[in-house]
Amino acid sequence: MLGVYVHVPFCESRCNYCAFSSFVRNDEIDRYINALTKEISSFNGDKIASSIYFGGGTPSILEKSQFERIFQALKSTFTLTDDCEITIECNPNTFTADKGRFYRQMGVNRISFGVQSLDDNILKFLSRRHSAAQALSAIKCAQECGFENISADMLIGVNKNTDDFLKQVELLCSQGVKHISAYMLQIEEGTPLEKMVMAQRDLLPDEDESIDQYNGVAKLLKKRGFERYEVSNFAVSGFECRHNVNYWTGGDYVGFGLSAHSYIGGRRFANANTFEKYYRGVLALDEQLSTRQLQEEHIMLGLRCKYGVDKKYLFGLGYDISKNENLPELLDKKIIFDCGGRLKLNEEYYGVNNLVIIKLLPD
Ligand code: SF4
Repeated sequence: MLGVYVHVPFCESRCNYCAFSSFVRNDEIDRYINALTKEISSFNGDKIASSIYFGGGTPSILEKSQFERIFQALKSTFTLTDDCEITIECNPNTFTADKGRFYRQMGVNRISFGVQSLDDNILKFLSRRHSAAQALSAIKCAQECGFENISADMLIGVNKNTDDFLKQVELLCSQGVKHISAYMLQIEEGTPLEKMVMAQRDLLPDEDESIDQYNGVAKLLKKRGFERYEVSNFAVSGFECRHNVNYWTGGDYVGFGLSAHSYIGGRRFANANTFEKYYRGVLALDEQLSTRQLQEEHIMLGLRCKYGVDKKYLFGLGYDISKNENLPELLDKKIIFDCGGRLKLNEEYYGVNNLVIIKLLPD
């Protein structure tokens, strides 16, 4: 079984912090969909899909007919499992009741809203196109269209007032959102935000304040019945994102579209990130992972989520992690737990998981 990712690289405008593969190019959409549907239809691999994820960019920018064309290509190429999770990322201002009903008809059963903040000044500062009121009404509208499985992305490290930020997260919980992704704002090279921060160093909260916000969100969401199942992802039980869980547990996935990544049977490959190269079928990356890379990948992914590292799997790859010289101390200090053959990171250390990963990598 496969997870299927479809990249929609179009946005209405560029947010000032964005480093994703996205373009303001309405004139390119139809040509892109022609190439995308062709790529999907010519896929030659496992044809059973347990999840489909439309990411971007802004997938909700597409017209219904454009979305339908992609969906038809997917449905005629793949057999979807009965409980296939189908997610679409939406920006609140491009979501309407009409689109919501249409997505339901198409079989979409999960909506992920790019909320980022519920403070209008911060949304403006980030050059987002929606307001806080629009975000809340989009969530309500999706619920009225019959969506229960709703996720919201929030950005940590923008709001200088931690209490204010936590109140916004609290408000999302009270709106019945079942999943929250709380990502740390990254200042990406070459973005307008980078220039702004260079010009005014104290524009954003410092690292300690950002860590406080992260810990505050984790504590608050725990109280509200959410489990942190990955470093940045929190869900009410049963609402974990299946598509991402497949990725974090080393499952195979195929990505279609500009710059989309795939991982199938230990081979990792990615499409080119310019339209012209993508249309010509150029790959930006194509590698068969070595045993060492597979070991590292498994440890890195396993220690960023609640699913942990499978000792037997690593042993099969020639690495007996039980003999790692740092493991006894990590177990002793309860930084790592040994749970029935899997090594799991104590969630209190999720924020510093990289330091633990380094200690458990093979020599
Ligand atoms: S909506 Fe998302 S993908 Fe589009 S510009 Fe903003 S951050 Fe980037």
